[in-house]
Amino acid sequence: MPLLPCPLLIGGEWTAASGVPTAPVHNPSIGTVIAETPLCGPGVVDQAVRAAAAAFPAWMETPPVERARILFRLKVLLEDHFEELATSVTTEHGKTLAEARGDVRRGLENIEYACGAPSLLMGESLENVARGIDCDAIRQPLGVVAGITPFNFPAMVPLWMWPLAIACGNTFVLKPSEKVPLTTIRIGQLACQAGLPPGVLNIVHGGREAVDAILVHPVVKAVSFVGSTPIAKYVHEVGTKHGKRVQAAGGAKNFVLVMPDADIQPTATGVMEAAFGCAGERCMAGSTAVAIGKAADTVLPALVDVVSKLKVGPADRDPEAQMGAVISREHQARVCDLITKAADAGAAPLTDGRTTRVASAPGGFFVGPTVLDHVRPGMATMQEEVFGPVLNVVRMDDLDAAIDLANASPYGNGAAIFTRSGKAAREFRHRIQAGMVGINIGVPAPMAFFPFSGWHASFFGDLHLQGRESVAFYTQQKVTTTRWFSFGEGTIWADR
Ligand code: NAD
Repeated sequence: MPLLPCPLLIGGEWTAASGVPTAPVHNPSIGTVIAETPLCGPGVVDQAVRAAAAAFPAWMETPPVERARILFRLKVLLEDHFEELATSVTTEHGKTLAEARGDVRRGLENIEYACGAPSLLMGESLENVARGIDCDAIRQPLGVVAGITPFNFPAMVPLWMWPLAIACGNTFVLKPSEKVPLTTIRIGQLACQAGLPPGVLNIVHGGREAVDAILVHPVVKAVSFVGSTPIAKYVHEVGTKHGKRVQAAGGAKNFVLVMPDADIQPTATGVMEAAFGCAGERCMAGSTAVAIGKAADTVLPALVDVVSKLKVGPADRDPEAQMGAVISREHQARVCDLITKAADAGAAPLTDGRTTRVASAPGGFFVGPTVLDHVRPGMATMQEEVFGPVLNVVRMDDLDAAIDLANASPYGNGAAIFTRSGKAAREFRHRIQAGMVGINIGVPAPMAFFPFSGWHASFFGDLHLQGRESVAFYTQQKVTTTRWFSFGEGTIWADR
């Protein structure tokens, strides 16, 4: 198979990068290389930023309703190409087609939200802040904004950023993950087709060098980042040091508490989906289940039963596959190594994904769903974000101790509880140190109109991605205080 092209989008032109090193893009389901991502440096980033800066004055003056019309057209195009985009996600990421459809759908919802720009951008005003003096606040765009995205949601995460940013009147430079650039390119092509003026959205490819060039570029006013915690922290530190607004979402270790009174079957299914959906490569994955009291005797066997029936397979060619491959061979080896370390330290694998083989795709990067029982704090799979299909099961006696355990984690992205007790759920919601909480919902990922609101080491910055917080992030307020001393000529009141 010839390699798929991986062009840059700068100033409305699609061009191939030349003379730079490349990184392979795999089809993880079968392990083959399908494209090479150019690893661009400061020169290309500077071209893209200049193109965005050149497009900014006219785009800022474009009425919000006209900007929204282009996004409406893009939404229609994405609906028309929905299956093609989902297939692209599956091909470069390895998640199942159903999961890929979810990835595209959640991205689309962010475009729908951004179409509300005229309402979202409305300001505030108050008459008579003092006698005869009025005050109003309007929102204006920042200028050139950049976005840097991870591999695990090739459609959704970039769409968290640029549609709303440009709806607010900014122009954008997007650097997608070098592991999954292809879906972004296709969406960029559709954005051009929808009538986005040249330079409003620019796409550059690369890794650390490109990121560093964005972070120090004097023309870039703000940076949205999503990725692992060490890089999120770095991006926040360097970006803010260089005078930019930064919102940086990082990694996670999400706890799912299972009370002894939880409804057994839906809880088992909910925990299974939280842990193994997208092969665990989700910042909202429920990677540690805390079985409280006799939940270990009721829910745990039901969980192991549903998990052992999960069909692992090549998502791009097996429509029955319920769990796909992980992103790379290195990641496959790392996940297996972490399972081994936990098992060596005394954890008991109730299902063991290290031994999973997929006969129809021997080259795929598969790890089967792994449930580790009797996990204790300090074990490798509890310490690190595994970002693979591994579920820790910790047994505890009561809700109090379980909440304390979850709150001891340095992260604070999501947390969930399964219970029939409203009182226990309320206590959990009140005390848990996490920004996104699920009650009988394993993956409480907020929709486009709510902030994606990680806490602690899961987020660096003040204003989160999505929703009104992101509108605030992508705009600056101008507050005008007005007083008039006298009426002008021709006013009937002038002589009073
Ligand atoms: P990553 O941190 O390796 O990469 C993210 C981005 O940073 C990529 O564009 C990459 O090119 C760039 N990058 C990588 N190394 C860099 C370096 N040394 N210097 C500068 N830039 C660098 O993350 P990933 O592996 O692509 O994605 C998985 C991570 O993203 C997980 O930790 C997951 O929890 C997190 N994530 C978080 C959220 C959230 O909302 N909190 C959402 C999705 C994913």
